[in-house]
Amino acid sequence: MTKIPLVHTPEPQAIPESRTNLLGMSQSELGDYFKTLGEKPFRATQVMKWIYQHGVTDFTQMTNLSKGLRDKLVEHACVIAPEVVHREYSDDGTRKWVFKVAGGSLVETVLIPADDSKVNGRKTLCISSQVGCALDCSFCSTGKQGFERDLTAAEIIGQLWVANASYMEGVDSSEWHNNVTNVVMMGMGEPLLNYKPVVASMSLMISDHAYGLSKRRVTLSTSGVVPKMYDLYKDIDVALAISLHAPNDELRNELVPINKKYPLEQLMAAARAYVFDNPRHKKHVTIEYVMLAGVNDSDEHAEQLVALLGDLPSKINLIPFNPFPHAPYGRSSNNRIHTFSNILNNAGFVSTIRQTRGDDIDAACGQLVGQVADRTRRSAKWQQSVKERLETEQANS
Ligand code: SAH
Ligand code: SF4
Repeated sequence: MTKIPLVHTPEPQAIPESRTNLLGMSQSELGDYFKTLGEKPFRATQVMKWIYQHGVTDFTQMTNLSKGLRDKLVEHACVIAPEVVHREYSDDGTRKWVFKVAGGSLVETVLIPADDSKVNGRKTLCISSQVGCALDCSFCSTGKQGFERDLTAAEIIGQLWVANASYMEGVDSSEWHNNVTNVVMMGMGEPLLNYKPVVASMSLMISDHAYGLSKRRVTLSTSGVVPKMYDLYKDIDVALAISLHAPNDELRNELVPINKKYPLEQLMAAARAYVFDNPRHKKHVTIEYVMLAGVNDSDEHAEQLVALLGDLPSKINLIPFNPFPHAPYGRSSNNRIHTFSNILNNAGFVSTIRQTRGDDIDAACGQLVGQVADRTRRSAKWQQSVKERLETEQANS
């Protein structure tokens, strides 16, 4: 077992009321802000580069800004990321942060690197969008926690800022480079129910003036907030994952209660629109399907799923259920998952079973809240499950 050092850091830094936090502002918001200071909007891109590409949060070090502007920013603005209260770095590269956000709530972010020799240094960061979640899916520990509040854009993009900064400690800003290659909005919360801050944050992830990530490497996962799915492809070009988990309304109403509001017919129409009506011509959506023993994993369910997806261009991710205390479900057996997967593949779909290191990130995400709610016991459990999966993969490779 790899030893993971736990580091405690100070209490959150308060944002002074008289200052505007520039972290998390989209390019246009930042442009508008500079106009209010009597400056040209192009200053926005200069400041974005300092913050996101050089890790500089001190305005006095932003040397291509005039002295006058630097002084104004020092007086009126700030760049403050959410405070890290715990961090855990494992020898195998997995990293986890617990943030304390304003109001005292805790939020988790996890980074799991893929094996370098296989996928060229991929590092996937699983980001949270809310504290808790109101949607109460029956297999999800975040849902069991209930909803506390939305995260701000600063708190969302701040998770990525901190993850990248963790690789650059002691590195001069001129040498700074970003390490995270993929982002999945699959931590705590339903991103489409915190729409504006999530879209602003994702716009920074894919902006060439900020993180410049490939739009295929930024994925938003939703349980099916249908009206916002139509907004999403009009507002931003990112990959979409849909947490389907059931192939008929009766079962989905039970597992993913938002289905009662937006049933499968509406959800599938929105998924089709995301691919076909999207001006950026998406190749596919990802369908997530958690494998719950004896609940949604029969041959019949697989056949229903084939019929439901029809000709929707999709890739199906089968997620072995991550148990948590008092969960009313068990994980489907490996045999069952493989049989289910074969039915999908024989019908012409691409289905993958989440068990490789990089792909496993979102399975780890699905139980992030565990460590927040009960750090000591569940954190040990989380570390154990991540390690076991990595060891299994290493043994198989
Ligand atoms: N609210 C969004 C994103 C966060 S959940 C959504 O539901 O899509 C991220 C992913 O983890 C979702 O696919 C979710 O269904 C899955 N998940 C949640 N709890 C899980 C569990 N106990 N085991 C496996 N996957 C889980
Ligand atoms: Fe919320 Fe997603 Fe969990 Fe459902 S699966 S309760 S939508 S975080």
